[in-house]
Amino acid sequence: MGRLLFISGLIFLGWIAYRFLKNTWAQRLREVEQREQQTHWAATAAKPTKIQQIKACAYCKTHIPEDEGIYRDGKFFCSYQHLDRYLEHEQQ
Ligand SMILES: [Zn+2]
Repeated sequence: MGRLLFISGLIFLGWIAYRFLKNTWAQRLREVEQREQQTHWAATAAKPTKIQQIKACAYCKTHIPEDEGIYRDGKFFCSYQHLDRYLEHEQQ
């Protein structure tokens, strides 16, 4: 009889621990979700969703995303190196 009580006690304790862990995990997940949603909103508010444009470098004609290039005098370049070379070429 003592053995049975001991086992049911263990099961009860396990159940309590399970419930406690489940609650804290659910709470933590909710917190993380909320934080992610907030940062997502902050990110979309900071920079509106824009379709990425692919532009050709004025010097080498390589097509790269607009974000990764440089604009100078209405022209687009893939790197500062090509911007410099293009300007040198123009001056000659
Ligand atoms: Zn280039």
